[in-house]
Amino acid sequence: MKPDLRTLRQVLPTALLVGGVCGLCAAWVPSRAAAVVLTLGAALATAAAIARRIQLQAEQAYVLLRRPELRDGGMAQTGVYEPLIRDCCERLSRTDAELLAAVKARDELGVRFNGRQKQIRRLEMAVECLPMPILIADDSDRPVVWNVAAVELFGGMAAGGDQSLPLPPDLSRLVVETRTRSAATRSRSLELQLEIGGNVRPYRAAATHLVDGDGSSLGVIAVLDDIGGEQEARSRHAEFVSSVCHELKTPMSSMKAFIEMLMDGDVADPEEQLRLYGFIDVQIDRLTRLVNNMLNLARIESGVIKIQREDCGLNDVLEKALEVVRPMADEKQIRLIPQFSPLYLAVHVDRDLFGQGVINLLSNAIKYTPEGGEVRLKSRLAESEAVLEVQDTGMGIPADDLHRIFERFFRVEQNCKAAAGTGLGLALVQYIVADIHNGRISVQSRVNEGSCFTVAIPLGHRDKNRRKAEQHACTA
Ligand code: ADP
Repeated sequence: MKPDLRTLRQVLPTALLVGGVCGLCAAWVPSRAAAVVLTLGAALATAAAIARRIQLQAEQAYVLLRRPELRDGGMAQTGVYEPLIRDCCERLSRTDAELLAAVKARDELGVRFNGRQKQIRRLEMAVECLPMPILIADDSDRPVVWNVAAVELFGGMAAGGDQSLPLPPDLSRLVVETRTRSAATRSRSLELQLEIGGNVRPYRAAATHLVDGDGSSLGVIAVLDDIGGEQEARSRHAEFVSSVCHELKTPMSSMKAFIEMLMDGDVADPEEQLRLYGFIDVQIDRLTRLVNNMLNLARIESGVIKIQREDCGLNDVLEKALEVVRPMADEKQIRLIPQFSPLYLAVHVDRDLFGQGVINLLSNAIKYTPEGGEVRLKSRLAESEAVLEVQDTGMGIPADDLHRIFERFFRVEQNCKAAAGTGLGLALVQYIVADIHNGRISVQSRVNEGSCFTVAIPLGHRDKNRRKAEQHACTA
C-alpha cells in the first residue's frame, strides 16, 4: 500500500515538528552520534505517525463498509483506502439493488405460489365434494386421485400415501383403452353394474384422456354417474305410454265396432241403436276426461304450468275446495262436514294446485261413497306440519290394493262400477303434495267402512321469513 500525497500532507506537520525538535536538539548536542540518533528518532516518529494515520483510515474504511449511510461524508477520511472503498461501495450498491430485485421477485413468486396453492386446494375440494365418484389414473393406469364418493363406491382407503383404489375390471379396461386408443377420440363411456351394500346398481362411466398442451399425457379421468333413476324413469315413461295406449285403444275399438254395426244397419231396433249411441257418448266423455287428466299431469310435470307458491292459511284453501265439490255432494245427499283446526295453519303453497289436489281427494270421497253418506274434511297442527284429512264413509279400498292406489291408471276393480274415472286423479294428488309441496300423503281404508286420506305439508310462511331475513340483512 503506497502512502498517497494526502496522507503525506496529513503527517507532514508532525514530521516537520519532530524533525525541527530533533534539529534543534542536534544543534545543542555537539556529538555526531547524537545527531544520528536524533535523526533516526525523527524518522521513526514520522513512520509511526504515518502508520497510525493509515490504521485510522483502515478503521474508517471498515466503518464505511459496515454503515453505508455514512459513506457520503466519510469517504475522504479513508485516505489510501479510498479507491478500494469506492469500488467496494459501488459493488455493494449494485449487489444491494440486485438483492432488492431478488427479494421482490421472491415475494411475487410467493404470492403467485400461494394463489396456485389455493387454486389447487379449491379444485381438490370441489372434486372431493362432488357427489359423483371421480378418479384420475396416472400413465400406468393406477388411480392416483379420487374423491370420497369413489371410496364409498369402490371401497379402499381415502386418497394419499401409497394406498390404492380397487377398480372393477370393466372400469380398469375403460381407463386403459381411453389412454392407449385416444387417437380417434379422447373420451369413452361405458354402462356397468356395480354392487353397493349388496345392491347392484347401473352406472355410466365417462373417461377422458388428459393431454397437456405439449401433447404429454397427464393420465385418465373417469367420472361415474348413477343411472338407476334415469333407467327407472325411462321404464316408467315406457310403462306410462303403454298404459295410455291401452286406455285409449280399448274404448276406441269398442266405439269403432259399434259405429260399424250402426253404419252397416246391423242394429235395426231404435232402442238398441240409442243404447249404442249412449255407450259411444259415455266413452267419448271418458276419453276426454282421460286426455284432460293426462294433459294436466304432463303440464305440471314438465313445468309448463308455473308454480306460484304464496303464504296463506290452510283452512282458507280447504274452505274453497269444499265449495267447489258441494254441488256434487248435494246431488248424492252426502253431508260435507268441515272440522278445521281453530289455529291459523300457516302454509306456503300454490293455492290453485294444492286446492286442485284437495278437490281430487274430496271428489273421490264423494264418488266412492254411497248416497246419504258423510265426507269429513279435517285440518290440524302436528309438530312442524300442517295436516289435512279427507275421511269418508264409502266403499273403502281392499288392503291388497292400497300400495298401488297412487299409481297412474290404477283403479280398484270392485269400485270401478261406482263411478267413472281414469286412475290419474290420485297420481296427480301425490305429485302435487310430494313433489311440488314437499309433503306426504298416506291412506287408511277398510272395505265397506270408508277411507281416510291424510296429507301433511311443512308448516310456516316463507315470504314473511324471507322478508324478515332481508330486513335483518339490511339493518345489520
Ligand atoms: P279415478 O279417476 O279412477 O277416481 P284416482 O286416481 O282418483 O282415479 O283413484 C284411483 C282409484 O282409487 C279409484 O279408481 C278408486 O278405485 C280408488 N279410490 C280413490 N279414492 C277412493 C275413496 N275415497 N274410496 C274408495 N276408493 C277410492
